[in-house]
Amino acid sequence: MFIVANWKAYVESLAEAKKLAELAKRLAAKTRVSLVIAPPAPLLAFLAARNRSSIGFAAQDVSAETGGAETGEVLAQISASAGATYAIIGHSERRARGESDEVVARKLAHALAQGLIPILCVGEHERDAEGGYLTFVREQVSSALEPLEPKERSRVILAYEPVWAIGKTSADAIVPADLGEMVLYLRKLLAELLPGKSSARSQVLYGGSVEPSDIRALAGGTQVDGFLVGHASVEPSTFAALVKAVA
Ligand code: PEP
Repeated sequence: MFIVANWKAYVESLAEAKKLAELAKRLAAKTRVSLVIAPPAPLLAFLAARNRSSIGFAAQDVSAETGGAETGEVLAQISASAGATYAIIGHSERRARGESDEVVARKLAHALAQGLIPILCVGEHERDAEGGYLTFVREQVSSALEPLEPKERSRVILAYEPVWAIGKTSADAIVPADLGEMVLYLRKLLAELLPGKSSARSQVLYGGSVEPSDIRALAGGTQVDGFLVGHASVEPSTFAALVKAVA
């Protein structure tokens, strides 16, 4: 199992970040769950230099630009050289600020060109009885993957993050049966878009109000490979409980 801790902007100081990274390191050693931390960009290099041998690091986003006179942009190559192995791309909180599918596709290409493994976030805003949400998710996935070379597509990790379930409580998270169905749908989609049988190795994660009380049910029988965890990843005892539950 694979857990990506998306710290978002919840972690506000290096002191707090150091404590959480220490905890993650201890949990990874004890449980053998693969842990990846996505800290705020300015903290990445410091944390990765000290902890990279036991936990992975992800950028929370990458710039759609290629560099030069771009004040404030964090390029994929900067995150890669700071110690990131992964990059979260197309998170709904970025899309909510106007990031289009076309921008997501550009970011994906930049991340891959710099050797980062993209974690591509997709997910509908709401579910409708007619299944329109399936078409919505299909379009998000295909608009991001189709511009890539077939071999590059195989490097992308998909994170299914329904917007209606993000930032709430486990009571609002998806139910396991619906998650299992969506994972199957995404795997079918990947099989259509990826070359040969390479989609069999693709990873599909789930994110959206994953907490200690629902993680086991969501992990069991849904064929999901891991979780992208937001608010529950920055509260030490909750994060420890989450990791132990999937271990
Ligand atoms: C997220 O935004 O990636 C996420 C999973 O958030 P939360 O766990 O807080 O719902």
